[in-house]
Amino acid sequence: MYEETDLLPLSGLAQLAYCERRAALIHLEQQWEENRFTAEGRVLHDRADEPETESRGDLRVARALRLRSLRLGLSGVADVVEFHRVESGGVALDDCEGLWQPFPVEYKRGKPKPINCDRVQLCAQAMCLEEMLGAAIPRGALFYARPRRRQEVEFDEALRGETEHLAERLHALIASGVTPPPVPIPACEFCSLFSRCMPDALSRTRRVGAYISHAIREASDDVA
Ligand code: SF4
Repeated sequence: MYEETDLLPLSGLAQLAYCERRAALIHLEQQWEENRFTAEGRVLHDRADEPETESRGDLRVARALRLRSLRLGLSGVADVVEFHRVESGGVALDDCEGLWQPFPVEYKRGKPKPINCDRVQLCAQAMCLEEMLGAAIPRGALFYARPRRRQEVEFDEALRGETEHLAERLHALIASGVTPPPVPIPACEFCSLFSRCMPDALSRTRRVGAYISHAIREASDDVA
């Protein structure tokens, strides 16, 4: 179990699943640069980040709900948590009669990504809610802006395991204080930190550096 003072931003898991260097640049070096993709995402989140609750029949909706897990060592904010009235299971709410099943919903710009970062972030939110509310949360949903649709996500053992593993890695990365070198990946094209990271240039520099080291070693061997 972590202490309150050890908690790291839940959003760091999504960054880490995207790219370890990106997570380090943002959370170790506090570097951030907005591009079209992050600006669109921020506008989408701003709409969901206004704290409020609303009731519609058997549904209650809480926006901008603060989350925390001492087991994962994470804290953050859920865009939306829906509470669906159920006959059994679920949780009791202070201001409503009956039982309610929590169902987290995270808003994302663009379309579903080939990497698991959005699903991991949503799963971490669900695991925070489970710890806070003492309820089982088997599924939630990601809402994508393009096209505007919901994708349901099941929090199975594999996804929960990956989420726990990434939470441990995030703590290890922050504790190390070391930003890993760049490893160019297809997602670099959409990364808002591309110009600061310079993945191609730095990896070329490393290749040149390795070549020079190798040449010096060979020259020393010849002399010996
Ligand atoms: S440009 Fe590529 S290597 Fe650099 S932080 Fe972004 S995703 Fe990672």
